[in-house]
Amino acid sequence: MSNSKYIETKLIHGGIDGDSVTGAVNVPIYQTSTYKQAGLGENTGWEYSRTGNPTRAALEALIADLEGGVAGFAFGSGMAATSTVLSLFKQGDRIIISSNVYGGTFRVLDKVFKNLGVTYSIEDTTDLATLDTKVTPDVKAFFIESPANPLLTVTDLAGVAAVAKKHGILTIVDNTFMTPYLQRPLELGADIVVHSATKYLGGHSDVVAGLAVTNNKEIADRLAFNQNAVGAVLGPFDSFLLIRGIKTLGVRLDRHTENAERIARYLEQHEAVKHVYYPGLPTAQGYEINKKQAKNGGAMISFELYENYDIKKFFKALQLISLAESLGGVESLVCHPATMTHASIPKEIREKVGITDGLIRLSVGIEKVDDIILDLNAGISAAKEA
Ligand SMILES: *Cc1c(COP(=O)(O)O)cnc(C)c1O
Repeated sequence: MSNSKYIETKLIHGGIDGDSVTGAVNVPIYQTSTYKQAGLGENTGWEYSRTGNPTRAALEALIADLEGGVAGFAFGSGMAATSTVLSLFKQGDRIIISSNVYGGTFRVLDKVFKNLGVTYSIEDTTDLATLDTKVTPDVKAFFIESPANPLLTVTDLAGVAAVAKKHGILTIVDNTFMTPYLQRPLELGADIVVHSATKYLGGHSDVVAGLAVTNNKEIADRLAFNQNAVGAVLGPFDSFLLIRGIKTLGVRLDRHTENAERIARYLEQHEAVKHVYYPGLPTAQGYEINKKQAKNGGAMISFELYENYDIKKFFKALQLISLAESLGGVESLVCHPATMTHASIPKEIREKVGITDGLIRLSVGIEKVDDIILDLNAGISAAKEA
């Protein structure tokens, strides 16, 4: 356990630091499902690994420490974390989600929880005054993201949390895009933070995992109960991989964001680029709010090529940047929201909210930035020949 107030140090020494029995500097992988009990009613505090596992417990203590919560919970995926948080609600409850919430979050609400009587409505969470008028007695929580996919829309987290507090409802923030290194929603008034740790926290595109943190003891007890009851827990080896990934989160994100800032400026001045969406650009929607609530603009950029550029040729010409779903790994990834992440949304609706066929989402990696720019340039040149 580290007493440092600095997140750079907490990333490496936070939570449970190493192994006190052997002095191992890393938390061991306790690859076990059960624990021997000395006698009836006598155990070591560990009984069964769905309920608790020391490697997972170390990860859970670490994420709680990083987000400034009282307890953390690790799950088999980001969606398992979100679903377990949503399982706190009951029939008749309604949740307000932002219009650009992660597609899987929308899907689980629309296709699973709605059938169980937990409903949702979609609102523009960037408009606090209107949001305030949407809270009817059945609304029990806001579920938001900032910046949100794929147009990097910024929502005022403290503002939304204040509206929630006024109505006595919860604020849940999906902090996947920023991580606690760049933004800590609980400090801004949120009650629960969820993560797809598959992304920046893991950081190497080699593990699927989810995390949840709360700063409310009562919610923590209920989450612990539901985590064990529902059972979508993270295994010991994947817990170890995440702890390992989190140690370098600070240095990785410093490079990710340094690269992203360079690339955003490069794209902004490019003649082929119609619009750049990046919260770190002073011209971006929500720039001032993001600056207030986050360390910087993060490392996700979306940009739109003019209609006379052939998007298919752009993707084909890329050599370094992989065309793939997901984000947040050390390698640069690019995706086409219109046909990949947001393909299920009808074209007219997509175009109306800005997810045009020319929109490209880039997860900026930590390669030498000149190489990334060279590759983007090659893609844009190839697209122009059309
Ligand atoms: C990927 C992602 C999720 C879902 O996480 P999985 O680990 O894929 O289940 C949730 N929210 C955001 C913002 C994501 O990017």
